[in-house]
Amino acid sequence: MQHADARSRELATNAIHAGGKQLHPERAVVTPIYQSSNYLFAGEDYHQLGYIRLSTTPNHRVLAARIAALEWTESALVLGSGMAAISGTLLSLLGTGDHLLAQGNLYGGTATLLHREFPKWGITHTSIDAQRPDSWAAAVRPATRVVYVETMTNPLLEVADHLEVVEFAKGNGLVSVIDNTFASPVGFRPAEIGYDIVVESCTKFMSGHSDIVAGSVAGSGEHVAAIKHTQDHLGGALDPHAAFLLERGLKTLEVRVREQTRTAGLLARMLEGHAAVSRVYYTGLESHPQHSRASQLFHGHGGMLSLELVGGLEAASRFSAAVEIPTVAVSLGGPESLVIRPAATSHAGLAPEEREASGITDGLIRFSTGLENADDLLDDIDRALRLSQQQG
Ligand SMILES: *Cc1c(COP(=O)(O)O)cnc(C)c1O
Repeated sequence: MQHADARSRELATNAIHAGGKQLHPERAVVTPIYQSSNYLFAGEDYHQLGYIRLSTTPNHRVLAARIAALEWTESALVLGSGMAAISGTLLSLLGTGDHLLAQGNLYGGTATLLHREFPKWGITHTSIDAQRPDSWAAAVRPATRVVYVETMTNPLLEVADHLEVVEFAKGNGLVSVIDNTFASPVGFRPAEIGYDIVVESCTKFMSGHSDIVAGSVAGSGEHVAAIKHTQDHLGGALDPHAAFLLERGLKTLEVRVREQTRTAGLLARMLEGHAAVSRVYYTGLESHPQHSRASQLFHGHGGMLSLELVGGLEAASRFSAAVEIPTVAVSLGGPESLVIRPAATSHAGLAPEEREASGITDGLIRFSTGLENADDLLDDIDRALRLSQQQG
């Protein structure tokens, strides 16, 4: 039902209405915050318990239906963070002795989960080169259960060969899982091309206001129920107040991401022609190695880009000190533009040679495009870039 209905309407409509009109107390038009951990037990079994940790409150139910409609999946679940969505998904699919294939250069939290936590429970992984499908078969073992990728990697926005990932998973009996945080369902709907499970850090574009931490998992009813069962016991539920803010943020998802994408495109082109910039990473530019793949798969290239400054670390530091509109901070997808130097933050744990080898130079800046006026933003960036080139 949800399925057919979701596809007959555009995302902007579903972001506001999917899940149906509910009759709220006092005929409230907006879903109120149901700030109650516990609910009267009217049913006969566990599945009818109303309890926040079980994600069964009205705020959770509305969001689950809405996100399923945005992702074009049968079912969805909201959780307490993107990492709760990722850990809950993988721990539901994998047990002691199991193995997964994971794209290299994953989001830092996920990479650490795979490298440091999973080995404690006997879950191992092999990194695969997402650009070389012919190399994947050699990494599959009898215990391999899952293939895990991201829509675009952080911070160089490498786009995996997604059609091949899906086909490879099906051909080898693996569950395909994708982290779609950088694109959001506005930019890419992985389930549409056959991914089994789509996770999002709703902390980013989905909620869009840099004021909550949340996550979602979307997929078949069977997969989502299994992940919910695992996460019910791990305890990574979403708080009702954060659920309210996520529902509110989702209503403007499409207009926000569309505008962020438009500004990012203008910015990327300005940067590409700028004397202070040696390289720009944006999937919307023809210079991006996976530009044609991204153009074929994505509905717009999104709000994330990276730039490398002429003059390396010193220039990057002068640039960060000179920008007035963007905030120097991690995270992404909010209304305020953000700049951060990955070599000093997300990738600080890597040895300098490893960083250089993976293209994350000291002069690299990651940019999350906000919702400021594009002309104001471009003027400010241009001014800061000029200052970045002045010595002393
Ligand atoms: C932020 C982020 C996460 C983790 O999400 P949290 O909500 O911070 O737990 C996972 N993947 C990607 C790509 C992210 O950007």
